[in-house]
Amino acid sequence: MRCLVCEAFSLQHICPTCQAKLIVPHPQRRLLSCGLEVLSFFAYDEVEMLLKTKHTYVGHYFYTLLAKASMRPFGRDFAYASPLDVIAIDDHTRRGYAHTAILAHALRTSRLRYLPHRLLAGNDITYAGKSLAYREANPREFVYRSGSKRDVLLVDDVVTTGATLCEAKAAIQTKGQEVLLAVVLADAAR
Ligand SMILES: [Zn+2]
Repeated sequence: MRCLVCEAFSLQHICPTCQAKLIVPHPQRRLLSCGLEVLSFFAYDEVEMLLKTKHTYVGHYFYTLLAKASMRPFGRDFAYASPLDVIAIDDHTRRGYAHTAILAHALRTSRLRYLPHRLLAGNDITYAGKSLAYREANPREFVYRSGSKRDVLLVDDVVTTGATLCEAKAAIQTKGQEVLLAVVLADAAR
């Protein structure tokens, strides 16, 4: 097959040369209006082409590549006094996989426990291309089910305005858990 980026002959969808060039995380933190800190590994523009494949067959491959390069080393090096629950935003399966579940799986260690399907949106509203006003007027109505007392590491693929992460944080707090940090692949504000 051919590399999807440079079109050179390759045994993988993206050749090793393009992987080394494209998939280089450089972590950055942003503080959202709700007081939640978000760590991102890429600027959205850098990985937009890969993220747009989200609901396709090849999207699983790209999300796995990105997660291996960013989420996995972060989870391995993450030091915190007590074990945490990893909660992924809206990790229900579409077309065979849940993109946020791929990210959460890559984060797992003996101290970072991924609890799947705990935080699901109450509706199918999508925010792509929508304003902050629209996002705030149309909340995702998250339903959080856990029963755990651990602090939480929230996971999503992209942060834009931060409205989704802040709403998720509020839903988790109503059940008596604190959200320590949100971790995303890409920040659209970088
Ligand atoms: Zn290439």
